[in-house]
Amino acid sequence: MSNFFNLLYRHRYDIFYSLILITLVLLMIIIFPKKETKNILNELENKTFDIRQNIIAKDKKVNKDIVIVTVDDPSYEYLLETYGDWPIPRNVYAEILDYIQAQNPKYVAFDLLFIKSLKRIPKSDDKLIEALKKYSNTYTAMNFDNYPFEMRKPPLIDKKLTSDIKINSDNIKPFLFTNHRELMKEITNATDKIGHANTPRTDDGFIREIPVFICYPRYNQEDFSVISYDYYLYMTIKLAIDYLNKYENANIKSIEIDSNNNILLGNRIIPLTDKAQTILNWYGETGVESDKTFKYIPFWKVLKSIKAKENGEQELIPSDMFKDKIVYIGTSIYDLSDIKTVPTSKYLPGVEIHATLLNNILDNNLIHKAALSYNLLISILLAFAAAFTAFKIRSVYISIMLFSLFLGFYMYFAAYVMTKYNVWVWIVIPLVLAIFVFICSFIIKYLLKSRDFEYTYKLATTDGLTELYNHRFFQEQMKNKITEYNKTKNKFSLVMTDIDFFKKFNDKYGHQAGDAVLKHVAKTLKSNTRNEDFVCRYGGEEMAVILNNTNKERAIEIAKKLCNAISSQKYDLTPELEVSVTISLGVSTYPDNGKTPAELIEYADKCLYIAKENGRNQVGFIE
Ligand code: GH3
Ligand code: MG
Ligand code: MG
Repeated sequence: MSNFFNLLYRHRYDIFYSLILITLVLLMIIIFPKKETKNILNELENKTFDIRQNIIAKDKKVNKDIVIVTVDDPSYEYLLETYGDWPIPRNVYAEILDYIQAQNPKYVAFDLLFIKSLKRIPKSDDKLIEALKKYSNTYTAMNFDNYPFEMRKPPLIDKKLTSDIKINSDNIKPFLFTNHRELMKEITNATDKIGHANTPRTDDGFIREIPVFICYPRYNQEDFSVISYDYYLYMTIKLAIDYLNKYENANIKSIEIDSNNNILLGNRIIPLTDKAQTILNWYGETGVESDKTFKYIPFWKVLKSIKAKENGEQELIPSDMFKDKIVYIGTSIYDLSDIKTVPTSKYLPGVEIHATLLNNILDNNLIHKAALSYNLLISILLAFAAAFTAFKIRSVYISIMLFSLFLGFYMYFAAYVMTKYNVWVWIVIPLVLAIFVFICSFIIKYLLKSRDFEYTYKLATTDGLTELYNHRFFQEQMKNKITEYNKTKNKFSLVMTDIDFFKKFNDKYGHQAGDAVLKHVAKTLKSNTRNEDFVCRYGGEEMAVILNNTNKERAIEIAKKLCNAISSQKYDLTPELEVSVTISLGVSTYPDNGKTPAELIEYADKCLYIAKENGRNQVGFIE
């Protein structure tokens, strides 16, 4: 047991520093849950997600079966010229739909809202309603918001548009919207292929994830109290389920969220965040025709092709352009503000978010966040690597290089698991932690080193018995003082002391008692001099005091004071036995009494000898 305590004692400093380190790390972990810190860390982590997405976007290919028809700026101008106004009469969409459907697409989805309150032209609207009734493979969007009831009474939504979702997880909290922009009643009557198209942005204005489903109350229309809450699926999720059922016989009948926050659609997984959102795997910059972007067809081209077809002229787009395709129709005009900022692009038409989600579902590569336990494990491993490189590598440069290499490797690993496994592992917290541990380890390493140095230095310069400076140190300081004098012209003095009749004392009381008295004398000399003076054991019972910045006169005064201090001191050898000793002293001053340490010592020694001659217990002087 005592061995154990010895061990503890020997390693007390290491234990102390380790405790400090652990405390600091714990403090950081306690600080993390603070909202502001968490937000900063989250935002930084999101940025690292964007960087990873941009890196891996290079290797992604979009599904060429997904085609986007978009009202881009030229189309918008064309429409304004033709119809004089926006929104355009709805029969235009009916014409477009008829034209596309004639080519037998798999699906058509309008990322457009056919709002009840906007520009109703009954004859024109009827055309669209008829078309929607005709094509059961066609989807449209609805939009939720949170306008106060004073501005708009929240409308009731047809029950058939809601979805039954079974949630087997405790930590799913979908977005709750309290109001809704009502669609044309006839549209809702014509089709149930209507899903929401809300894409809430994160604090920094980016869209990284979309709500797979949202929550909206069923209000009592009398007093607008909440009767129950309904779930509404994202339009593309509805489309994807129909696609998988029809083309892959997935036989999906209900939507269920398992305890790991995943929705399983056949063999596809939709991982959910706690807000029932799913994180998209984004494709590259848009607006450039390449196999990394969806095929875009401007709205005006389709309209002109319709005209050409009617007139039996050459169409502007191939007549099988939409055959077997999934066609999204939306806008990408700044004025209509359906432009989004996403990790891989600052300008992305909202409709492309639907295309991206569908593509991700079909490729089964939606992003999962790694489990907390994995992230913590990674953080700890990285912290270990940091501590290891800081502690074990001798060269600072090599350890910093190696540590940077570790971090670089980790970033590569993080990007790799995102490409290969669609997993988002933390970067920011492990990095912050690793850098913190690295710096702390360095500080501790150098604290330990300086402690070791101090210890060795003390060993090398002090006398074991009296704890005064040793002879070697004394000689060194004498030289140093002379060098110092040459610069500052500050005189210094040396007082040599010798205990009187110490041999007799030893003989009478024994060596142990002699040792104890030596210690006491050393202590008295120390306590009667200043910190800047050096009290040294010259040898045996002879001690030397180097008085910093002291002339002869002052040195003699001090020597006398020391002489009195020793002689007036009584020591208890045993409770019954009280003894005292006296010392004789000699003083020399630089440069008055010698030019070298040896000459100074010799002069002081001579004085000391005179003191002995004159009866001891005094300061001696050369006449
Ligand atoms: P004086 O200086 O007054 O002429 O007489 P002294 O008896 O002190 O003279 P001397 O220098 O001959 O004797 C020094 C004695 O100091 C010898 C030794 O027994 C004793 N001494 C030296 N170092 C130690 C030590 O570390 N411990 C003990 N107990 N005694 C020591
Ligand atoms: Mg002596
Ligand atoms: Mg002596």
